[in-house]
Amino acid sequence: MSEYDSAPPEVDHEEELPEDHPRYTDLLTRHRIEEGVRMGITHLQGMHAEGRGSAFDYLLGEETIPTADEAERVAAATLLLADHPVLSINGNVAALVPGEITELAGVVDADLEVNLFNRTPERIEAIADHLREHGAKDVKGIEADARLPHLDHARAKVDAAGIYEADVVFVPLEDGDRAEALAEMGKTEIVIDLNPLSRSPKVADVPIVDNIVRAVPNMTAHARRLADASEGDLEAIVEGFDPDAALEDAERRIRQGDLGT
Ligand code: ATP
Repeated sequence: MSEYDSAPPEVDHEEELPEDHPRYTDLLTRHRIEEGVRMGITHLQGMHAEGRGSAFDYLLGEETIPTADEAERVAAATLLLADHPVLSINGNVAALVPGEITELAGVVDADLEVNLFNRTPERIEAIADHLREHGAKDVKGIEADARLPHLDHARAKVDAAGIYEADVVFVPLEDGDRAEALAEMGKTEIVIDLNPLSRSPKVADVPIVDNIVRAVPNMTAHARRLADASEGDLEAIVEGFDPDAALEDAERRIRQGDLGT
């Protein structure tokens, strides 16, 4: 039995996690979600979502597959072309990539909006504060003065000047009902979800089957490389993308993956 077959290490700070551990990404994301729950920004149910994601990531080999890298480039082009892009933040997103998503918002000139399934004023404020500590200037979603159609009151809330008006919405780790409601409103939707069979990536224009901790920094890197591209070049990148083919490729890899064991 190797030292890594034992239970994961108990650590107080993520710097203590062994970077050479074969499942380092999983240890890191688990630790960040636990910290998120402790800080009051992540709901306990976020741990279950994390567990589901972690299982799919394991089957994908915990790496960004080529079709996900392409989807991340298409997502960057889509955000750069948008008139009013909004990046949606829930408790898991805030716990996992607060600095990275703030950086992406700066590079593609997008708004950040807190958008919670289990919405309480305390969690909204805690997430907004957490994002500000990571460099966010303006955080939307505090008032949430508009409603998405066909959803019950609590889950329908969005910001009138944010997601409600946006032409492009980036909704990582989003609940299927809300992803469907946004698609029905005609929004161009970018979703990150490690489960290619989940409803959210299926309704997305740009589904990204990758771990958010890898996907968001990679989108930012693509956006920086595309910053000087012409509108025509960006449109060609978007038009050349086939969302169904990307989902099928991810599913095939998950079902047939060689885990090397
Ligand atoms: P549906 O979209 O059909 O409602 P669900 O109920 O499984 O599906 P949620 O619990 O609302 O979905 O959302 C969690 C989703 O996020 C899961 O599909 C999970 O695989 C995915 N997920 C969890 N952690 C990550 C992560 N770190 N990166 C990317 N995706 C993740």
